[in-house]
Amino acid sequence: MKVAFYTLGCKVNAYETEAIMEMFMNKGYEIADYDDFSDVYIINSCMVTNSGERKSKQIIRRPVSINPNAIIIVMGCLSQLKAKAMLEIPGVKIVLGTKNRHMIIEYLNEYLKTGELLDKSEKLENDERFEELEINDFQNHKRAFLKIQDGCNNFCAYCIIPYTRGRIRSKTKDIILEEVKHLVSKGHIEIVLTGIHTGGYGEDLTGYSFASLLKDLEKIDGLKRIRISSIEITELDEEVLDVIRHSKKIVNHLHIPLQSGSERILKAMNRKYNKNNFKAKINEIRNIFDDISITTDVIVGFPGETEKEFQEAYDFIKEINFQELHVFPYSRRQGTPADKMKNQVNGTVKKARVHRLLELSDALKEQYMKSQIGKTKSVIIEQEKDGWYIGHSKDYLSIKVKSEKYIIAKEVEVILESIDFPNIVSRIKK
Ligand code: SF4
Repeated sequence: MKVAFYTLGCKVNAYETEAIMEMFMNKGYEIADYDDFSDVYIINSCMVTNSGERKSKQIIRRPVSINPNAIIIVMGCLSQLKAKAMLEIPGVKIVLGTKNRHMIIEYLNEYLKTGELLDKSEKLENDERFEELEINDFQNHKRAFLKIQDGCNNFCAYCIIPYTRGRIRSKTKDIILEEVKHLVSKGHIEIVLTGIHTGGYGEDLTGYSFASLLKDLEKIDGLKRIRISSIEITELDEEVLDVIRHSKKIVNHLHIPLQSGSERILKAMNRKYNKNNFKAKINEIRNIFDDISITTDVIVGFPGETEKEFQEAYDFIKEINFQELHVFPYSRRQGTPADKMKNQVNGTVKKARVHRLLELSDALKEQYMKSQIGKTKSVIIEQEKDGWYIGHSKDYLSIKVKSEKYIIAKEVEVILESIDFPNIVSRIKK
């Protein structure tokens, strides 16, 4: 039997799909491309934004045009909250949410036996246990994304995730360490720690924290790089910073969501810090690591955001001097506090503000790239494109280099020469 997969949304979804694909391969299923004929189509859905939800529905509707008898299975955040609506889409036979994905083959067999539509989505309990999914080898990836935790307890006013993913729960330490050793034995030299709230790892555990995990990962032979996909400023406490300070493997790049640089908006968003906290911690980090690169997430057009508050945010972002910004227009999500707020900002204004921040992001990134020209960096090569090998440096620059030898998945030393935005052109260090 053939099975095809499509993943929307975040790295956590990507990890889960990869783990489930492996389960099907181990059961002898043949993996097909999503645009080709298949018997079963599995979609890991997203609803973090309107566009994520819209795209998920488009993708779910696609297979019946290829195979009218397709068995479509929907999982993920969208089906966690809207299971019934998913079952109304032609071809959808089985729905599950953000738990019990390890049961997916049993559910398929149940459907094949009964032919009845199956809604296997379940309410997330507060004491939900972490669902142990594992990956033995990443297909086509040179940097292995490793899901270490699920859920979030923060309830930021704009965010639907705590309702689709439940409360914080952490993966068992021993399983993580075994999985990393296995991935290293398969040739992966960089591990990207990811989660719904990565820095929240360990909050539900006794006597074992995110810092403890980083320390244990540091001891794994053959692992060269540890990257934290994203971490809240409040989680960069003394314990974590001390581990990073003494680490030889944690890369000099941190992705720290700011979301807004306006004091009133930060409060309205229910973020857990104010501008002074954020700035003070960034200064502390920069005092510890003189070569750290910091990227961030910013939402524009949060309900009530005035032009003056947007300018306040713009100036604060410039002052913090991030390497790069990920900019998102506020997306109204039913069920979140922000959805009920007055003074929703209109789309045209949001678009203009996104554009201005993206321009700022490019300027900040170019400025950072200029400051790195002439330096030597190690790059893990991830792909070959138009005769160039391309990969990321530790400080998360996209670097391209020419090489006679095949160097995919290799770590190479290069000297940065010039900017070919958004890449930096380099040469192999002899
Ligand atoms: S920290 Fe806030 S933005 Fe991030 S997942 Fe939790 S609620 Fe959403």
